[in-house]
Amino acid sequence: MSTGYRRIPSVDRLLSDARLRALAVEASHDTVAALARERLEDARRGVADGVPPPPLDELVYDVCAQASRLLAASPSAVINATGVVLHTNLGRAPLSDAAAEAVARVATSYSDLELDLYDGTRGSRQAHVSSVLRRLTGAEAALVVNNNASAVLLALSAIAHGREVVVSRGEAVEIGGGFRIPDVLNRSGAVLREVGTTNRTYAADYEDAICAETGALLKVHSSNFVITGFTHEATVDELVEMGARHGVPVIHDLGSGCLLDTARFGLAHEPMVQQSVTASVDLACFSGDKLLGGPQAGIIVGKREAVSLLAAHPLARAMRIDKLSLAALTATLVHYLKGEAVEAIPVWRMMAAPLDGLEAAARRLQEAAGGIGSVERGLSTVGGGSLPGETLPTWLLTVDAGDAQALAARLRAGEPPVVARIEDDRVVIDPRTVLPGQEEPLARALRAAAG
Ligand SMILES: *Cc1c(COP(=O)(O)O)cnc(C)c1O
Repeated sequence: MSTGYRRIPSVDRLLSDARLRALAVEASHDTVAALARERLEDARRGVADGVPPPPLDELVYDVCAQASRLLAASPSAVINATGVVLHTNLGRAPLSDAAAEAVARVATSYSDLELDLYDGTRGSRQAHVSSVLRRLTGAEAALVVNNNASAVLLALSAIAHGREVVVSRGEAVEIGGGFRIPDVLNRSGAVLREVGTTNRTYAADYEDAICAETGALLKVHSSNFVITGFTHEATVDELVEMGARHGVPVIHDLGSGCLLDTARFGLAHEPMVQQSVTASVDLACFSGDKLLGGPQAGIIVGKREAVSLLAAHPLARAMRIDKLSLAALTATLVHYLKGEAVEAIPVWRMMAAPLDGLEAAARRLQEAAGGIGSVERGLSTVGGGSLPGETLPTWLLTVDAGDAQALAARLRAGEPPVVARIEDDRVVIDPRTVLPGQEEPLARALRAAAG
């Protein structure tokens, strides 16, 4: 046996170190012992490969580091300095205060989730949101599920299983995160019937495809890309008119679920839920955590008959929304009913942020961070598969600190972690997506990382 092995301490020796004994008080003894054993195993493999055995201090340090990673509250809060309002990797929409309080309220207490408090009979968790959703959108009925991917899968499964679904070739797309319309259609047991071409599809293309096998016409919002130039798509109104003539339901996957007109904020007009309902689609599906500004959820609104087919489908139970998301969703929707969505819901507040306020925020940040970088005009984006290619004018704090990647990495590794953008080899901080109360920690993080 090589002497290397003999210089690796035993588990007991390692665990008797004062630092690990202290750690065992905070974590459990079993957890620390398991981590110590794994680290020693690793050290033995290293010796077998000719690596010198690590000193005791290094072993202790590694076990402590591993334990703190394991025991950290995760996911942890980060500061989004990217200016991307709906950043999928950063959890999309932050909740309003009222929505966060609603989550806390039902999280630590029992609730009337499925109980009718009036007569003591069993209630439906859907009752908490359906009337608000009907009022906001004008739809006859509503149903909420786990996310929009499930909503689309449920709609197709319940409406078009074993039948053909007519989709424009330009809309048989991948939305992101592996969500591909053709695959979802397959999984629902429906058969994809692509019509038109990638850039141009006319109402007549759908009409030519309608036959005895047709189960639905599906329109999909091409959320995360734009086709420009020589293009044409059939309107929702055209599809609804055609569907009515042939007795074929129309399903509209809206993606973002916008309830306010984005044109108010100098952006392109994003298709709104109310418009699909007014156009009389049978079902419209959208996300809770995109432009709606709420928790992850899949929201379905539409005709009573179609929605009840979905509610009765066995998949509906498998995709049901949890009580925490439901509480957050109801609270978010109430902001719209009260007419306070732009002030109360963070994503709308960020999109409506006035340019002079953003400039002032960038200058405050620069000063608080010790005068580093320069304040310049720039662009924010909406992200999250909403309004692709659209930008909002903003003010940025740009830091030219040699290695931009290294600075961005130090910011991510800080406490709190800061996620910034890199543009032209400079680190760019966009105050638009920095939440109230985060300015000071952001300034501190910048000073620490750039200093
Ligand atoms: C984002 C999106 C989805 C998926 O929604 P999730 O809530 O993320 O499951 C589906 N369809 C479209 C058009 C989208 O933009």
